[in-house]
Amino acid sequence: MCDKYEPSKLLSVAKSKCPQCQSGKMFKYGAYNLKKFSQMHEHCPVCGLKFEIEPGFFWGGMYVSYAFSVAIMLVMGGAILFFSNGKADFWTYIIPIIGSFIGLSPVSYRMARVFMIHFFSPIRFNPKLANRK
Ligand SMILES: [Zn+2]
Repeated sequence: MCDKYEPSKLLSVAKSKCPQCQSGKMFKYGAYNLKKFSQMHEHCPVCGLKFEIEPGFFWGGMYVSYAFSVAIMLVMGGAILFFSNGKADFWTYIIPIIGSFIGLSPVSYRMARVFMIHFFSPIRFNPKLANRK
């Protein structure tokens, strides 16, 4: 996906930073500020990049979010199956799977948008715009 090795790409994805300067935050609040976790800065506070590069750009994030949700549920289901040696009953699967799905949905929602802009957009890192300390 990247043309060259960028040692801080992973870190900027993990920290939800701007793909262009890898310094500015994409979201205004923390993931578990439940009323405001989805609020994004319209423009990068460091380099001024408009995050929604075209109208509806983040709609594609729904598919990424769906993939994350399925992955979370498969990992939970697999972990329960593994640690119970297949002897867990129905609710022993359902409660942790639904719980982790709901508990991680703010993170999933945000990471979907971060993935969209980092991996499915033409924006590339520009070291000249980085504001590192
Ligand atoms: Zn930026």
